[in-house]
Amino acid sequence: MRYSFAYQPYRRPFRQPVRTAHGVWTEREGIFVRIAGAEGRAGYGEIAPLPDFGTETVAEAAEFCRRLGAEIDADVLAHVPERLGCVRCALGFALAEVGEATPVAPTVGAAKRLPVAALLPAGRAALPVLTQRLEAGYLAFKWKVGVGRAEEELPVLDDLLAQLPAYARLRLDANGAWDRRTAERWLERCAERPVEFVEQPAAPAEVDLLLGLAQDYPVTLALDEAVANLAAARDWQARGWPGVFVLKPAIAGAWSDVAAWIRTTQADVVFSSALETALGRAQIVRRLTAGDGLTRRALGFGVGELFGDRRWDGPPVGPLLDAAWSDATDPLALWNAAP
Ligand code: MG
Repeated sequence: MRYSFAYQPYRRPFRQPVRTAHGVWTEREGIFVRIAGAEGRAGYGEIAPLPDFGTETVAEAAEFCRRLGAEIDADVLAHVPERLGCVRCALGFALAEVGEATPVAPTVGAAKRLPVAALLPAGRAALPVLTQRLEAGYLAFKWKVGVGRAEEELPVLDDLLAQLPAYARLRLDANGAWDRRTAERWLERCAERPVEFVEQPAAPAEVDLLLGLAQDYPVTLALDEAVANLAAARDWQARGWPGVFVLKPAIAGAWSDVAAWIRTTQADVVFSSALETALGRAQIVRRLTAGDGLTRRALGFGVGELFGDRRWDGPPVGPLLDAAWSDATDPLALWNAAP
């Protein structure tokens, strides 16, 4: 089966610059793809690279798209290297949409609502935000740590946990910032407390340290920066990683591969946003809410208003996400707005 193929680079400033471990990020750059069959039926996808996470760059993805040409085969994914996880994600979704006899079934009746984790700002500013988000109905919270010194942040942890009702859980994300001593201090402090997990306590390259910490402390640990694509997640699994894998479906690879890996290995996964636009996020959320139980943990899709434009952000995200959220996004509108 041959399909027509087109791609459209986009560039969209963030409403407010996004601070990351690698500096300040002012705009989202990516590529939309469109695959169409003979009857004019079209499927869309989004390539949303995070080169700081070790994905392909936008330029590499654009070059790959250019070389694909104006026509592709249904088995095109077999020819996309695993390293190009963002390209694989976009083509996988677009092919699934164009190849399906009916559009992804609206999950009427079986509609699943998935909890979303609320993001708390670094430092003491987390405390008032926790109060607000609890009132809004959130049950899971994520707090950025390793931003200030441990002496300043550890007392805030105590204050946050003191505010946390028994039904709620707190995740900590160190973004790989801690050395061994700091990590040990934190993990001692977290033991036996309502901490759901500690994300990336040390840098991805610190393989032995991460495996050792996971073994030595009762707190669940999660890998994020270390598992940018499915190949990396498989490697850590082979090394015996006993904790959580934070996967960003937009960069991890083709959704069908991600889902098959989780089903086969029963990996404990948190799904999270790569700050993609509403086009890519709607496709991911649609799969997650289709009810196949790939995760029991709150989603990391509470990224707020990134672009300050409903078309690009999708509807506001609250404590629960369902298929209606995805249905509110029209990929064609984004495709047309991209240039
Ligand atoms: Mg993280």
